[in-house]
Amino acid sequence: MDLSPGPSTSIGPAKVDWTRYGKRYRSDWEHLPECEGWLVRALGGDPSKARCRLCRKEIRAHLGDIKKHARSDM
Ligand SMILES: [Zn+2]
Repeated sequence: MDLSPGPSTSIGPAKVDWTRYGKRYRSDWEHLPECEGWLVRALGGDPSKARCRLCRKEIRAHLGDIKKHARSDM
């Protein structure tokens, strides 16, 4: 399953909504199969960061980085 945003997936409104494209943390990501159980919002509520509950590391709130972390962690 490829969840990365791309021009081929045109579901929803066409306008660019940056909250969808990984510049900010999205709590939706917590429900992705790769992220479930470890991904949490960064301490302090910084929207540009996410956090791994397992290794207690901060990750950039970019879906690519989060997925990379998921692969390195499991
Ligand atoms: Zn981790």
